[in-house]
Amino acid sequence: MLLGRYTTADSESYPNALTALHIQPLEAAEAMDRWISRPDDVDALIAQWSEQFPRYFKAEAKTQYSGRPVWALTVTDHVQDADERPAAIFFKPHAHEPAPIAAQMNFISQLLTGRHLDGTPTGLPREQILAETVLCFMPDANPAGTAAAPVEAWDGTQYTNEEFFGWMFGVDAETGKMWKRVDIWDDTIEDPLPTHYGIAYEQVSAHEYVEPNRHHASTLFRWLFELRERRTWDRLLSLHQMEFVGQTANALAILPCLYDEQPAHLQEAERGWAERIVAAWAQLPHGNPLQEIKPLGYTGQQRQYFVDRWGDIYKDSVIVTSEIRNNSLICPPPLQQALNEKAIEATVAELIAHCR
Ligand SMILES: [Zn+2]
Repeated sequence: MLLGRYTTADSESYPNALTALHIQPLEAAEAMDRWISRPDDVDALIAQWSEQFPRYFKAEAKTQYSGRPVWALTVTDHVQDADERPAAIFFKPHAHEPAPIAAQMNFISQLLTGRHLDGTPTGLPREQILAETVLCFMPDANPAGTAAAPVEAWDGTQYTNEEFFGWMFGVDAETGKMWKRVDIWDDTIEDPLPTHYGIAYEQVSAHEYVEPNRHHASTLFRWLFELRERRTWDRLLSLHQMEFVGQTANALAILPCLYDEQPAHLQEAERGWAERIVAAWAQLPHGNPLQEIKPLGYTGQQRQYFVDRWGDIYKDSVIVTSEIRNNSLICPPPLQQALNEKAIEATVAELIAHCR
């Protein structure tokens, strides 16, 4: 699938950025053939896989308020008893961060079909992964938000970061800048309303909107609580993107904000796993991870949201956040996708190496 923006008038700087990365524009465009992130495309592929691969693929959905399905996709050999196998959940909370959708869909494609979405053969040991692990993917926790995005991928050619922030959390009617980032808001109470509702918020009732990663009413948390009831999960990978303003890096692994209070065995597992992810990023052509691995640095209210909503999960879970550069000329969408896939691949390698 080629994206129209490669031919738009303002794309001149984009090939220059690619040249600096030694990526030819054509190669980058071709690599977008592995990219699927639009909710309707995701739903169609899931329907196809459900029919073709019932032994290895189980798709379950919760319906969000918008009416769209939020999928939890379990990939394993379901014929054999899977209860004893090491297991991981991969999930993507934020609608302005589409690369983790594309990465999860292409990763699943490789496991099921032996091929990337563009048809090239996978290098993954897929039979071993299917036989020895249980992988649950939640490729998009807020498809209504994703569907409302003005682009399929944020490549830095069409929106400045300031405009991008307005798409994320809405535009303040008075300042014209990004509206506030809160856990929940009600559009019958807020005055003035944002001139544009941010796509990162998930509508959960006629008038209420939640930040999926910061409120338990989100479909993301509804799924996580249910999945945690079902079985033990050895690893939880939270897939995100950020802007790395003022930096040249394109990837970062983050430990929980309450890392210092976690039991030592969880700390040790998180740090070793995060190191494996960072090492995998560094091996990728154009991978440029920040080497330092530390707890989430939020303070004040934003930190408190995590303490309140994730605190209980941190007590018994091995959980790492992956951040890949978004909306930047120096990290084109195929690279965003490849970096996200590396984090997933390193997590599966970690499961096989350390969780049996
Ligand atoms: Zn995010």
